[in-house]
Amino acid sequence: MTNTVMVEKAKVSKINEVDFDNLPFGSVYSDHMLVCDYKDGKWNAPKIMPYQPLTLDPSAKIFHYGQSIFEGMKAYKDDEGSIWLFRPLENFKRLNKSAKRIAIPELPEEYFMEGLTTLLQLDSDWIPQNPGSSLYVRPFILASGTGFHASPADEYKFIIACAPSGAYFSGKVRVLIEENYSRAANGGVGYAKAGGNYAGQFYPTQLAIDKGYNQVIWTDDNTHEYIEEAGAMNIFVRINDTLITGPTSDRILDGITRKSILDIAEDEGIATEVRKISVTEVVEAAKNGSLKEMFGAGTAAVVSPIAGFGYKETDYDLPELTNSYASLLKKRITDIQYNRAEDKFGWRYKV
Ligand SMILES: *Cc1c(COP(=O)(O)O)cnc(C)c1O
Repeated sequence: MTNTVMVEKAKVSKINEVDFDNLPFGSVYSDHMLVCDYKDGKWNAPKIMPYQPLTLDPSAKIFHYGQSIFEGMKAYKDDEGSIWLFRPLENFKRLNKSAKRIAIPELPEEYFMEGLTTLLQLDSDWIPQNPGSSLYVRPFILASGTGFHASPADEYKFIIACAPSGAYFSGKVRVLIEENYSRAANGGVGYAKAGGNYAGQFYPTQLAIDKGYNQVIWTDDNTHEYIEEAGAMNIFVRINDTLITGPTSDRILDGITRKSILDIAEDEGIATEVRKISVTEVVEAAKNGSLKEMFGAGTAAVVSPIAGFGYKETDYDLPELTNSYASLLKKRITDIQYNRAEDKFGWRYKV
């Protein structure tokens, strides 16, 4: 593969300012970023440059119409110092699926993959090796084209920025099953990683936090009878020994962690079901003791166990299990990601 990515290196590295033993999540950035401009009807070759602020016109459509999408992925370093990604083509495909829905021009695969791998090689010292740490990689596209007219922009920027990060959140969370607000609707943009989807979650999530919960469990917008996602993660429920997750749809995002967990669970001989999960079923299962586990699944936290949930002014606790599916599945997926185990599914990608 001939590399077409132009590189302008940072004059001084900021790496000595970073305490790699106490990394936050997603708030320290590496030395370089990738920028690729869409102009005159085409995506131009990507450039790598020192990490820096952007200059945008106040009439750039990102500010007015929220035309923006993103991805979230991680780069891992194994004990030998080799760099790995996890199913990166899935992120690329989903970026373009989101792009299409938000009327953003689709990006060529080689710009994404070459840009990403070149950037990771250049900033490889920024990939932490401490347990649970990784380089969080944030590819995104924003409308830089100008105009107050409510129509798609004619210029865009595709950017990849990287943040060396510690483990996302290790404690168990308490969640509130939402009865009023919705994250997504049929015919809407819930399946896309579109910026506005997350802005719309902040207020209802804050209301849940004010009531003493950590996160919201989103229910379907029409009836609020079915549980759909856990914050910005897919949700799994274990009733007796069956692991259940909702089917992807306009409203439920097609998470890479979700589908990897389904494959690993199957490989472990765990019974899985992909079907609608009603709130009534979860409440009944909590009452009769068949509700064993609930957890969120997504790139950042991988698996985020739920300690209990609130619904209609009542709190329900989940049991403390020693051999949870959550910990088993998290171990199997992270062992593949960090190159500690055989990759029988072919998910690892060497940078
Ligand atoms: C990103 C995201 C997920 C998880 O997707 P992964 O590919 O597993 O990181 C789930 N739900 C929502 C709403 C998301 O934005």
